[in-house]
Amino acid sequence: MIIKNGWIVVDYIRNYRDGAVVIEDDKIVDVGPTEDVLRRHSGSGHDVIDARDKIVIPGLVNSHTHISMTLLRGYADDLPLQEWLEKWIWPFEANLTGEDIELGALLGALESIRFGTTTVYSMYHYHPGHNEASGLIKAGLRGVIGIAIFHWSRDKNIKMFWDAMGRWHGRDGLIKVSLGPHAPYTVDPETWMRLPEILNEANERYGDRGRVIISSHIAEDWRENELIRDKFNVDIPGGSIFRYLEKFNILSGDFLAAHCIHLNQVDLDLIHKYSVGVAHNPVANLKLGMGFADTPKMLEKGIRVSLGTDGPASNNTLDMFETMKFAALINKPIKRDPSVTPANIVFRMATEYGALNLGYNDLGILKPGYKADVVILDRRKPHLTPVYDIYSHLVYAARSMDVETVIINGRIVYDGGFVNTSLDDVISRVENRVYELLEKVGKGD
Ligand SMILES: [Zn+2]
Repeated sequence: MIIKNGWIVVDYIRNYRDGAVVIEDDKIVDVGPTEDVLRRHSGSGHDVIDARDKIVIPGLVNSHTHISMTLLRGYADDLPLQEWLEKWIWPFEANLTGEDIELGALLGALESIRFGTTTVYSMYHYHPGHNEASGLIKAGLRGVIGIAIFHWSRDKNIKMFWDAMGRWHGRDGLIKVSLGPHAPYTVDPETWMRLPEILNEANERYGDRGRVIISSHIAEDWRENELIRDKFNVDIPGGSIFRYLEKFNILSGDFLAAHCIHLNQVDLDLIHKYSVGVAHNPVANLKLGMGFADTPKMLEKGIRVSLGTDGPASNNTLDMFETMKFAALINKPIKRDPSVTPANIVFRMATEYGALNLGYNDLGILKPGYKADVVILDRRKPHLTPVYDIYSHLVYAARSMDVETVIINGRIVYDGGFVNTSLDDVISRVENRVYELLEKVGKGD
């Protein structure tokens, strides 16, 4: 397939105003000015997409969500975190079957694709046959599923992790499985201690099908350190959660820490020292009143900060264009400096850094040898005219609904309609099932 005559955004610096991308199987094989690319591939018999007046970008990477929670979108809003979880979310979730989790993931996958996201990291409960992975595959979305681990169900969760590795890791070239210790206040020291060995073994046995990472919620709530001390009777040295985690030998470039809002200088130094990745979720953080990460400081230190929406119950969408705009704006008033988190760096966070944080070294850039995850936007729109700076447009002006075509792993999955599944059918199934679930939790009317 050749996409020609488009404004090709290779990465956060390089772009061709009139460029082309060549895709063969699941990989990008050539990128450059249209004229040069066509000369190199003349008579090659590729399918041609004319991308005149279009912007062609690497697919966006949503590096933190709980995608099946689309089923709980708007179910309970504007409540304090603990009340929200205990009175609303957990009782609802207790009734979810594997089929429900798959259906919620399928709906979230369609939403993600429609909005130009081609890879998600999603942590949730796992059922062997039907789960998030099976939902993502039905839509054709690339994803890393995190098997949630809590200390009260540790043995069962670890068993599930190995089951998921065997069944789903590497499946269809789209799915990876990862370790998802939920958070330091729901995972006890004994469990943390066991995780490095499990991660190493997973990479030794299954790493050839994709690097296995570990991801956890870190420092989302300002009360967390106190909670951990009280719950597990442990010391958080110098109030540094990363100093605490360091002693479990779990920190590395394979560790992705979501949120990282309430940190001190020691934490930042350790994140940098161990090359830990950070997933920043500005919309959900604002909605839950948690505060937000000091991303300018992190980026200045060279920390890989990627972007996430967090779950659709606390956002309430999976819209990465909206997330990019929030990420660009959120720290400017705090720093009293509009030059922090500039548009092209935010674009890098949503693409290349997202891919790296999920353990892919061949994703997130339109480069030969990289995976062919490509998104095409229509720029023949009032709000996208004129164009001076393409990155400013993508972050500040573009809307997720400007996405026109989505290619994942070299295959078109959206071109105005979903290729792999019927949206109408998915919406009807979700509406019927949610009605039944509400009856079960006594919130039917
Ligand atoms: Zn989360």
